[in-house]
Amino acid sequence: MEALFEKAFVKTLRKHSGIKKQVENKVRMIMEQPLALGEPLKGNFRGFYTYPVKKSFIIIYLYCRACRKKGDDAFVVCSDCSQRGDETIKFVLLEPHDETYGI
Ligand SMILES: [Zn+2]
Repeated sequence: MEALFEKAFVKTLRKHSGIKKQVENKVRMIMEQPLALGEPLKGNFRGFYTYPVKKSFIIIYLYCRACRKKGDDAFVVCSDCSQRGDETIKFVLLEPHDETYGI
């Protein structure tokens, strides 16, 4: 499994260094079971998965294999997807829970 971290994700993590350890743990867990753990989003965020960090943050990520299988790659902007293998997880955003898309 390959993990990619988008700039926005890294930036938020830097800003909230207090949750770094928890985020690292969740990232590891997601990489082991990306589909069993994540909650798939719908509508405009179809193709993305979320997983909570404590109660106050959520991780938003993409799993390229699931994306392609479900045809979600037509909806998500997975910029360099074609250069990545199926076993790629892209950590897109780390968001304070209350600022997120009605989850
Ligand atoms: Zn992709």
